Amino acid sequence: MQKPIRLGGAQVDPGQRATVNLPVARLYNHSEIDLLVHVVHGRRPGPCLFVSAAIHGDEICGIEIIRRLLARKNLGRLKGTLLAIPVVNVFGFVNQSRYLPDRRDLNRSFPGSGGGSLASRLAQTFMREVVTSSTHGIDLHTGSNHRGNLPQIRAAMEDPETARLARAFGAPVIINSNMRDGSLRQEGVDRGIPILVYEGGEALRYSEEAIRFGLKGVNAVMRAIGMLPPRRNTTTSSRSLVAEASTWVRAPISGVHHGAIRLGANVEEGETLGVISDPFGEGATAVKSPVHGIVIGRLNLPLVHQGDALFHLACLDERLPEGMLLEQELLPEDWRGS
Ligand SMILES: [Zn+2]
Repeated sequence: MQKPIRLGGAQVDPGQRATVNLPVARLYNHSEIDLLVHVVHGRRPGPCLFVSAAIHGDEICGIEIIRRLLARKNLGRLKGTLLAIPVVNVFGFVNQSRYLPDRRDLNRSFPGSGGGSLASRLAQTFMREVVTSSTHGIDLHTGSNHRGNLPQIRAAMEDPETARLARAFGAPVIINSNMRDGSLRQEGVDRGIPILVYEGGEALRYSEEAIRFGLKGVNAVMRAIGMLPPRRNTTTSSRSLVAEASTWVRAPISGVHHGAIRLGANVEEGETLGVISDPFGEGATAVKSPVHGIVIGRLNLPLVHQGDALFHLACLDERLPEGMLLEQELLPEDWRGS
C-alpha cells in the first residue's frame, strides 16, 4: 500500500481520485483562477506520471486525450500516481490563445518565479506542485497558427530512459530535438525527470488521428514504466523513425499556396512540395524540398507571405526502403504520402 499524496494542501488517499484546485491568480473582477489537477492515486506504490496539455492555451487535442485517458477502466489497477492537468495555461485557454494575457509564452517561462511575470508565476506553481512530485512526464502539444502536425515525439534521446519511453510511445516519428531554454522539457532534463513532448494535430481543432495516437502512446508509456500491467500477446518493438534534425521549408515568394504534399509523406531532396502563384495563376513558383525527409508539419492556410514556414521536415540521413511507411501501418490512411 502506498502513502497518501499531498498536493496544494489537499490529501488524496491510496485507491482514491480527486480534482485538486491550485490557486494561480485573480482576474480583474477578483474572481479566482485555479490550476486544476486530477489525481489518480493507486493503492500500490509505483511511478508518479504527470500528463499535461494546453501549456499553449489553444492546443486542445491534448485536453481530449486526457479526458479519454481518465475515462479508462484500467486506471483501477494503477500502480503509482497519475497527475492529469488538461489545461495548464488557463488564461490562454479561456482566450483561445497560445499565450498568457501579457503575451508571454508559458513554455519559455520555466522554471518560473514567484515575483516574475504572470507566466513565470504560473510556471512556478506548476513546477512546485506537479513536476517536483513526479518521476516522469508527458506534455501534449499541437501545431500552432494553422499548422497541422503529424503525430510525433520530441525527446532528448541521449538519455537512455527517455529514449526507451519515446520508443514505447510508438509515434511514427521521434525528433531528437535540441533543448530550448525555459521549456518544461528542459526543466525535466535538468532535474533528471524523463519528459516526452507529444505533438499532433492543429491548434483549436480536434484531430481524431492525433488524439488516438496520443492516447495509445500515453497508455504504452504507462505500461513501460510499470504503472499498468503489460499487454498480453503483443510485440513491443517500436518502429518509430528517429530523426536527428528537422528543418522548415519557407515560402520563396508571397501568394496563394497549393500544397501538394500531405503529412507523413516521404520526400526526396529537390522534390516539389507545392506551388505558389498570384491569384491570376501567373508567376507560379515551385516550393522544393531542401532535404530528404518526412513531412511532420504543414501549413493549412493557403495565403502566404514570402518567408512563411510552409512545411516542417524531419531530416533522414538514409533513404527509406521502398514502401516502408506503408508497411509500418502507423500512419492513418489519409496521411500517407502521395
Ligand atoms: Zn505547443
